Amino acid sequence: MSGSCGFLAPCFFKEELNLKTVPEIFGSLVFDDRVMKDRLPAHVYSAMQNTIEGGHRLDPAVADVVANAMKDWAIEKGATHFTHWFQPMTGITAEKHDSFITSAPDGGVLMEFSGKELIKGEPDASSFPSGGLRATFEARGYTAWDPTSYAFIKDKTLCIPTAFCSYSGEALDKKTPLLRSMQALNKQAMRVLKLFGNKDVTSVRAFVGAEQEYFLVDAEMAEKRPDLLFCGRTLFGAKPPKGQELGDHYFGVIKPRVQAFMNELNEELWKLGILAKIEHNEVAPAQHELAPIFSTANVATDHNQLTMEIMQKIAKKHNLLCLLHEKPFAGVNGSGKHNNWSIATNTGINLLKPGDTPYENAQFLLFLCAVIKAVDDYQGLLRASVATAGNDYRLGAHEAPPAVISMFLGDELTEVLDAIEQDKIYEGAEKTEMKLGVHILPKFIRDTTDRNRTSPFAFTGNKFEFRMLGSSNSIAGANIMLNTAVAESLKQYADRLEGKEDFETALHAMIKKTIKDHKRIIFNGNGYDDAWIKEATEQRGLLNLPTTPDALKMLLEKENMDLLIAHKVMSETEIRSRYEIMTENYVKTVSIEAMTMIDMTRKLILPSVENYVTGVANSFIAKSAVLPKLSGKYEKAKIAKLSDLEENIDTAVTALEKMMPELNRMADLTVASHFVRDSVIPQMSALRIFCDEAETVTAKAFWPVPTYEELLFSVK
Ligand code: ADP
Ligand code: MG
Repeated sequence: MSGSCGFLAPCFFKEELNLKTVPEIFGSLVFDDRVMKDRLPAHVYSAMQNTIEGGHRLDPAVADVVANAMKDWAIEKGATHFTHWFQPMTGITAEKHDSFITSAPDGGVLMEFSGKELIKGEPDASSFPSGGLRATFEARGYTAWDPTSYAFIKDKTLCIPTAFCSYSGEALDKKTPLLRSMQALNKQAMRVLKLFGNKDVTSVRAFVGAEQEYFLVDAEMAEKRPDLLFCGRTLFGAKPPKGQELGDHYFGVIKPRVQAFMNELNEELWKLGILAKIEHNEVAPAQHELAPIFSTANVATDHNQLTMEIMQKIAKKHNLLCLLHEKPFAGVNGSGKHNNWSIATNTGINLLKPGDTPYENAQFLLFLCAVIKAVDDYQGLLRASVATAGNDYRLGAHEAPPAVISMFLGDELTEVLDAIEQDKIYEGAEKTEMKLGVHILPKFIRDTTDRNRTSPFAFTGNKFEFRMLGSSNSIAGANIMLNTAVAESLKQYADRLEGKEDFETALHAMIKKTIKDHKRIIFNGNGYDDAWIKEATEQRGLLNLPTTPDALKMLLEKENMDLLIAHKVMSETEIRSRYEIMTENYVKTVSIEAMTMIDMTRKLILPSVENYVTGVANSFIAKSAVLPKLSGKYEKAKIAKLSDLEENIDTAVTALEKMMPELNRMADLTVASHFVRDSVIPQMSALRIFCDEAETVTAKAFWPVPTYEELLFSVK
């Protein structure tokens, strides 16, 4: 086969790989700006732009034209259905497919999609968690189109990103409060920018790049483990002889099977307009990471949800199971999600980037201080936003940030702030008297890149990296809290500075005050050090909230509620409902894990150990028939050891079994969550210790499920 190019190799490769260039496939399944420009009449296109950029309502007649163009485009791409795609409080996305068909008078069908259907949907949503928000008589919440996130095609279905609300207007999803928090941030940041004389900026938005960690294990192995199937993590498993000790996996050569998965994943994500950029192996064996190029917080949230979904789907095609759990394997690093966050103007200025002129620097310092103040004032809310049963196993386990929130700024920037606070000369590369508006910041600050991986909240040169998120978390929660808390700092600044005659002096005083009041939150040292936790809590008075129930309680603190209510991000009812949903989720998750443990112990582990013991006993009997004087020392010791373990396992599992009906009887969710934290989880750990020990003394052929070794090193 030589083909028309006369050269065997290149044509062969092109045909074999069926290559299209990345720009050709990028966004090919997205109804993005390019498609709108191309397919919508000019006045409709500009009406859409007004809606996307300015949040103006779309005229119903215009919506009809958009809907029709969307439908035609989607059908050309092979779509047959549409769905309002939303993010209920379950943390995963929801969709109910509706086909475009309507019956035609001639007995055939027409393909139709109206503006009304585009703008509003009414899924029968009574089964989604609402934390008591929706009385059953108004169980039908509605979905409303979010035109700031493009529609896309997935599995032959046109997906329309939407918000999900109850008929009385309460948010039942993660997107609505996120959009509201972005509005709050925009409003207050615009006030501050006006004070700096900015005239051309019309909006400020939060930008996010979410680095996603995950594990890949062989699907056939995983299917043999009920814990992985039901809980997404192993509930048992003895430590393998080799784990991550050698550090040879991080950035290591990617194995062919994993690379094939990554290639297909990238292609699918690119088609959906997701800017998948970086891929590499992570610290633990079988652990990997994907990072996209950042986008607005809203789009980043949608894209991260899609990324997680598509990772799992593509993994299946490669006979792999993608684990997004925060701690799939004990004794091996867990997975997180780094939320890189910045704020920028519509004119493309990153407000967290140190500038070149004194004026820009003063503005940078003000926004920097706004974040410092926000993180200190609302530590509890930030911690609550990442609180899940899974993340509790990771935070504070010396592999991820501790459960105490602090900020890393780097030594240089910290010294600059110290100099401002104390009216001192900054002794950097060039001596600088830190009077804002007069001197520029030393240049090198801009190059300060953080390699302190132990900090939960690190400044990395032009953005903050919030590292406490768990790998399966929706990033909406963290960004809702971050946006709103920063909006509040900016509001207080604007309130104080507006109308001040001597702006520069007032600004300087305010920055000084922020540093003085909030410097306790700044910590550049080792966050994994136990001495830090002691210092943080005992000397600095920072919050240490190690478990989900401790953290979720923060949602109900008066000052935290006041913040969310004042900025119209959530009403009190919405906050209380979220508290309930998150608490219920914690209780349910652990309770499923406990039930799975009981099941595996009774049906798999104990019978297997028993089989092995019987085997050893039988072998002794058989051998004794041949050698009547055989001491049986080995066999007897083995039988004694395993019988002992069996008894301990039985006692521990019986205690756990007894707890379950007790838990189910608890009507109060908070009480139940405390019972889970204080009784169920410790009992699960106790049971696990005996089972894991039994694994180490039972012959492999008898062990009922694949081992850690097999799971972590099976993918070649
Ligand atoms: P590292 O692993 O060193 O933390 P990466 O390069 O893997 O860094 O990831 C950094 C992430 O931060 C990427 O998703 C990137 O797009 C994102 N990012 C970069 N600049 C910004 C910014 N200004 N605002 C928000 N996110 C950003
Ligand atoms: Mg990072």
